[in-house]
Amino acid sequence: MAKKKGGRIIVAMQCSVCKKVNYYTSINKAIMPKLEQKKYCKQCKAHTLHTSREKLK
Ligand SMILES: [Zn+2]
Repeated sequence: MAKKKGGRIIVAMQCSVCKKVNYYTSINKAIMPKLEQKKYCKQCKAHTLHTSREKLK
C-alpha cells in the first residue's frame, strides 16, 4: 500500500455541527495538515465551522 506524502490531496470539508460533507477541496498535507474554514452549510442554514477530512477511498 503506497501512501503519498507531501503531495496535494483531496479532502472533504465537513460541517462541525451536523457532520455533513458540503465541499471538497485540495490541500498540501505537508504544509497544511488541517484546514478549518467557516462555510455555509445548507443543512444548518448557517455559516458553520468546516473542518477538513481526508476522503475515504
Ligand atoms: Zn451543518
